[in-house]
Order: sequence, then C-alpha cells, then structure tokens
Amino acid sequence: MNVRFQRIVSDLPLAVNDTTWEEWPLPFRRARLPVRFGGLGLTPATGIMDSAYVSSLGLCWSSLGVHSSGLLDRARQSLLSLAHSTTVVESTDIRFPAQLALEHANYRLKALGKIFGATTGSSVDLSTYVSSHVPDIMAQLNANRLQHSLSLVVTSKLYDLTMREVISHYEPHLSSYYLARFLSSSCRESATWCTVVPTEPLFTISAQKYSYLLAFQIGSKIPNSHLWQTHCDCGTSLSIDPCHVYSCERRYPHDRVKVQLSKLCQAAGLIPTIEPLHTCHGPCQPDLAVPDLDSSGKTLLVDFTTADAAVASHLNRGSAKTYHVAWKFVEKAKLQKYGCNFDASLYSFLPVAMEASGRWSSGLARFFGWVKRFAKVNRIQNAVRHSLWVARWRKILSVVFRVSQIICLESLVQSLSADSSRAVQVESDGEY
Ligand SMILES: [Zn+2]
Repeated sequence: MNVRFQRIVSDLPLAVNDTTWEEWPLPFRRARLPVRFGGLGLTPATGIMDSAYVSSLGLCWSSLGVHSSGLLDRARQSLLSLAHSTTVVESTDIRFPAQLALEHANYRLKALGKIFGATTGSSVDLSTYVSSHVPDIMAQLNANRLQHSLSLVVTSKLYDLTMREVISHYEPHLSSYYLARFLSSSCRESATWCTVVPTEPLFTISAQKYSYLLAFQIGSKIPNSHLWQTHCDCGTSLSIDPCHVYSCERRYPHDRVKVQLSKLCQAAGLIPTIEPLHTCHGPCQPDLAVPDLDSSGKTLLVDFTTADAAVASHLNRGSAKTYHVAWKFVEKAKLQKYGCNFDASLYSFLPVAMEASGRWSSGLARFFGWVKRFAKVNRIQNAVRHSLWVARWRKILSVVFRVSQIICLESLVQSLSADSSRAVQVESDGEY
C-alpha cells in the first residue's frame, strides 16, 4: 500500500515494503490513520488484525461449543495485544502534549475494559484480567459494531505514536508549529474532501488540487516548492513558515464559504442576507443576517472567520496545552470586537470559524445545528431524506472550504514561482 501510495504522491520519502508501522516515515503514518483522526483512511491491515480476528471469533464463539477450547491460546494472544494498546504513549520531550496522550490512554482503557467486562485501573491490571478470563471475555463479544470499537482503541494508540513522531521529526524550532497543525487536522472535517464521491460539480477536485490537499494532509512537500521565492507577497518568510501558503491571510477562502453558509440557510427555508447593511456600528460588518433562526426571535448576525492553529500569534498565547484550539481565540476576538456595536434588542451575534486544516469551531457546529433543526421542522421530508440533506451540507461546507483554500494557494504559487531568478531552496532537508 505504501509503495503504491508513493507512486501517486510526489516527494514522499522512500517506502520500504517489509517495515513495521513504527519504522514508516511520518507522511505514511499520517496517511494510514483513519479519516476521523485526520488520516486518509488507508488503515494498515496489521494494525486492525487483532480486532478483526477477535470480533469475528466472538460472534460465533457460542456456537463453537467444545471446539472453542482449541482456539483459547490464539484468542488470548489477540486479546493481550489489544490490552497492550491501552498503554500510555510517553515522551521525554517537554513539547509533547503528555496530558492529551494520557486522556487518550484513559479513553482506551475505559473503552476496552467495558467491552471486556472488566473494571481495572491500569493497563497492567487489564492484561492480568485478560490472561485469566479469556473464555468469559470471548463469550460476551457479540456487541454491535464490535470490530469498529476495538479498531478505534488500536488506532488511537497509533495516533498518539504519530503525534510523538511529529515532535521529533521536524527541526526543534518548527515542531510546535507542526504539532499544532497536526492536532488541528485530526478530525473528520479535515479529511472529508478525500472521501467525497464527486456526484455533483461542487465535489469535483482536479488532480492538481487533490495533490496539494494530499501534501497538506500528510505534512508532505508541495510539488516544486523548492523553486519558490523566499518570501510571500505579505512579507512572511517561507523558510521560517514553509506551510504559510496554506494560511496566508491575504488569500483566505472566506467569501466562498460565506456564500455556501447563505445557501445552506436558503436550502433550510430561511431567508438570509449577505453582508447586511446598517445592522452594526463601528468597524463591524457581519457576513450574514438570518431572521427566524434564533429562538429569541431576534435576527442572528453571523461573522465567519478562518484561523490557522499554527500561526505564531496563537502558538504564543497558550503554550503546549492550548495551541490546538485556535478557533477559541478568533471567536473570542470577534465577540469582543462586536461587543455593543449592535442593537441587542433586535439582533443576536454568533462568531463562526474554521481552522486552516478544516476543523470547525463550536460556533460553526452550533450554527449548523440550528439550521439543521430549522430544516427538520420547516421542510417536509422524512427522517432518511433529512439525514441525507444534513450529510450533504456537512460535506459541502467541508469540501468548499478546502477547495477554495487550494484555489487561493494556486494563485499564490503562481506569484511565488513567477520570478524564478530570485528562487532559492526553501527546504533542503527533505519532506516537511
Ligand atoms: Zn502570505
């Protein structure tokens, strides 16, 4: 799989066929994570081997009768391997988000303990329990979506190992920056573009755009970036911030998303106004005014913003514990900016944001939820059609954001490549 993947993505480090997950170069590890963790969903068979075996065996365990005793040793081996996935991934590097890794490990321990019917306080206790209770555990493994639940436990640990690799892979002064990007892109909205079937023009992504999105998603190099000028039009040095081109504030994909948010409201039966006049004082200009959505009867004013989790202004504010939540800062800034600049008896205000990697802010999730509920009440359609409608609009917002980001990137790349006489090597140490 890695070798084939390398054929379609340029500039990847060499993949050797017979190495294990721990030995794969970082971009391959990222690509092989599940979509819900920001990977491309090409989950390695070796990683989910035990969960597949145990869940298949669990489903037919009761009908095996006396024959089940012959499979006990093999089952024990797989169960112990799953129990081992609950261990904490640790690092001596102070930049490693140890608290986050601990939360993930606790989740794994709790989830697996529940599936195995054990109440244990540590990974070692769980292994001890497994060793002596194999027949009991196997007899109760017949839950719905069992393989999915078990695989989540395994891939959660692979995710933490990848997170640790992100820290050690890059030069020390860039690792916090790349970690913030990695954490920000660890959600399904970030990788939705790679799973959408192009059933309508909006979902069609050209080969060039697809390769740029791939490069961003797996932390690889943008094709021909070594020929670019040293500085972006806005003055940022590309050697200090090699992925700046994905988040240059002068080329944010703001307007296209604004239009789609308006279309989402219309599709739900609302009547939004884009850039409404005379709603606010001072420097405030909301992107949308949506009557009938707010339960208090006021017109909802919406301001959409994009944010990059890895820009220095966000990284410096909260240290390693908070740098993966840039949208909190931008939503707070918008709330302060709008403050008393509108008539609160007529309007309410909601800031909504998307991070450069595609993660939604809680404001955006809330807005989407309100529109969804409005559509459910005001559009005559059954439950199945409604959930299809919701899924389609979730995809539209996710894909349009990323594709318009790449449209901006393409124009920026053109200007960066325009004067090749000033071109220098931006990165000389392989992939980034
Ligand atoms: Zn720029």
